[in-house]
Amino acid sequence: DLVKDEDLEILADLGAGNGGSVTKVWNKKRGCIMARKLILVDAKPSVRKQILRELQIMNDCNSPYIVGYYGCFLVEVHVGVVMEAMDAGSLDDICRKNGAIPINVVGKVAEAVLRGLMYLYDVHRIIHRDIKPSNILANTKGEIKICDFGVSGELINSIANTFVGTSTYMSPERIQGAPYTIKSDVWSLGISLIELATGRFPFQDSNEATDSEGEDSDEEEQTHDPDPTLPVSFRRPQLPEKSNTTPKAKKSKKAGVSLGGGGHTMSILDLLQHIVNEPAPRLVSRKRKFPEEAQLFVEGCLDKDPAKRSSPQELLASEWITGSTMTPADLQEWAKSLAGSTET
Ligand code: ATP
Ligand code: MG
Repeated sequence: DLVKDEDLEILADLGAGNGGSVTKVWNKKRGCIMARKLILVDAKPSVRKQILRELQIMNDCNSPYIVGYYGCFLVEVHVGVVMEAMDAGSLDDICRKNGAIPINVVGKVAEAVLRGLMYLYDVHRIIHRDIKPSNILANTKGEIKICDFGVSGELINSIANTFVGTSTYMSPERIQGAPYTIKSDVWSLGISLIELATGRFPFQDSNEATDSEGEDSDEEEQTHDPDPTLPVSFRRPQLPEKSNTTPKAKKSKKAGVSLGGGGHTMSILDLLQHIVNEPAPRLVSRKRKFPEEAQLFVEGCLDKDPAKRSSPQELLASEWITGSTMTPADLQEWAKSLAGSTET
């Protein structure tokens, strides 16, 4: 029942990140669409085989809030991971194409992520470690699921050195070297929720960017060029235009935060320093009024002290989640209404 690479016919690019690229594929043997991620792993054969062994845990990860797993294999210099194709894409893509996400949908995103995190932790003792909008996926059934969690220690070790630049959802304690806990994932969730609800990444350079905040840059501003006065690392939330969402275009967006460009390194350190030293961001926007329950929820996620930060259980019991009137049918309607969701 294991999926092999030769069973797969390539259909389309779904996107690319720092460590890999994802393709929509047709599984000839099973007659269904899947997503194949190729991760560049520059390691010796024994390590690559160890990674495949460790990824087997994903066979036992069965939850409505976790993207389904079908198999993995080695392809040249890559580790291939075959998973469920989510036909509405990642929430960062959705946000890029459609602008800020309605706050009641964001509430359902929060609930799905928390249930996924609790499943991983309670059943498998796994901490996700990389919660961010690109790792939260949706489909046109109205399901929301998380992917790309840290199941394989060897895989984490093998790719850790190849990318540094996207650690911006990282909690203050992690930046300062404390080990990962489920509370670090809660912080990353809080940052992600602000980004989804406002259409923009919440951290701004404290000196220069606050001026430009007059025109709270929700979705309309997304299609404008980045403010040239901002340091490169802070242009990240400005995303390419609708027509421009090929993996390549995405890559060039990411290039803005990658290290190795020499002069950009300081800006990333500034951002990390900002997260550690400044007050946590809040769910506010000049353009919209968010419900108080949502603001309180995000405040609970973003206590800089992990001991005081809310736990997933507490957050699931909060009013924003328990009081939601959004039905599965509403969520499906939202997913179906998204631009570009019919292409899969
Ligand atoms: P990073 O490499 O910094 O973690 P990323 O999460 O965007 O960024 P990938 O995990 O390689 O990078 O994913 C690239 C893109 O592929 C995602 O942004 C998403 O749009 C798309 N994608 C990933 N997995 C799936 C899937 N199972 N179904 C549909 N689209 C997917
Ligand atoms: Mg990802």
